[in-house]
Amino acid sequence: MVTAIHRPTWMSVNLDAATHNLQEIKKWTKADKVYAVLKADGYGLGAVQLAKAFQETAAADAFVVSNLDEALELRRAGLILPIWVLGAWDYSDLTLFVQNNIVITVPSLDWLMHLPALAGTLKISLAIDTGMTRIGFDDADQIAQAKKIIETNPRLELFSVYTHFATSDDASAHSKKYFDQQAVRWQQLVVNQGFDPKLFSMANSATSIWHNTDPRISFAAIRPGQLISGVNVSNGDLPMPQKLFLERVFAVYSQLADVRFVKKGQALSYGATETMPEDGYVATMPFGYNDGWLRRMQGSSVIIEGKRMPILGRITMDQTMVKLDKKYPIGTRATLIGKDGKEQITAEEVAHYSHTIVDEIQTTLAPRIKRIYT
Ligand code: PLP
Repeated sequence: MVTAIHRPTWMSVNLDAATHNLQEIKKWTKADKVYAVLKADGYGLGAVQLAKAFQETAAADAFVVSNLDEALELRRAGLILPIWVLGAWDYSDLTLFVQNNIVITVPSLDWLMHLPALAGTLKISLAIDTGMTRIGFDDADQIAQAKKIIETNPRLELFSVYTHFATSDDASAHSKKYFDQQAVRWQQLVVNQGFDPKLFSMANSATSIWHNTDPRISFAAIRPGQLISGVNVSNGDLPMPQKLFLERVFAVYSQLADVRFVKKGQALSYGATETMPEDGYVATMPFGYNDGWLRRMQGSSVIIEGKRMPILGRITMDQTMVKLDKKYPIGTRATLIGKDGKEQITAEEVAHYSHTIVDEIQTTLAPRIKRIYT
């Protein structure tokens, strides 16, 4: 994959705003520690750049990623804070975890019982399955057995005991009930096992925002990811608390690469699905579905000089057409996500338009879009 550094389509990422957001959520939750979740290249914003900013400002105490290669990328970039890999992992790369001081997730008792002999200290996080049904222990006796194994193996060092909520970002009665069930399950499975509560990690972004006063939730070490961008992680289902001051971290821009006069009735793009409703100007911009601006964005808009203009015709792999209200010079900036004058297109709006969540929008923005850090 080549990043298109010569093409005028870019994402601007404000590292100070991202750092501010982490510090703000730490205050909001009164968390002792912040483990910044930077999987999927920092949710598309750039894991290395974010991690450096967080390490320099002491905004994070550890980084959390999805796989070993993401962890190694951070180590190779010189990051020294603990790095924790969330996904379940087989034994083949244990040496790399040990050598690079990377925390591995323990998904089951079976995994722990069959762990090969270690040539150094392995840091581990114990996954507790309270209802995600993805990975982790769901039986109190097995957790007790795991605790014994960890305590009697001098090569194992417990980094965290954690769980993940499935419905903390949703206001429906079903979701609230499910959240409660998971909180109760945590009490049943973990609380009386004698773990050091400082090791507990229970809160992702949504749990941190909307469950910050729930006495059943530990905020010893929070794990926010999507929230780092300053978006509403419930896609607007739940209102953002007024006193939680988050900043927008990223915007996506392009430029008009071609501007032409098109007569009323002329069809545009593949499938000739739409025609010009009147005589006027059409601009072509250098981005398409291969940049993550998927075909389902047909009919949405971009902002040009403070005004919304509709995307017309199918979005193609690399180019997208927009109907202009007048002739604009080639090189005029178009805002895909962000603010221009009084108009704003948020990631949440894009997510709504394409029937998905902000996480998907953000992580789909392709590596070929260059990132510019401010
Ligand atoms: N913790 C775990 C186990 C996760 O899987 C994730 C992301 O999916 C996170 C934390 C971060 O979640 P969010 O981006 O909603 O804060």
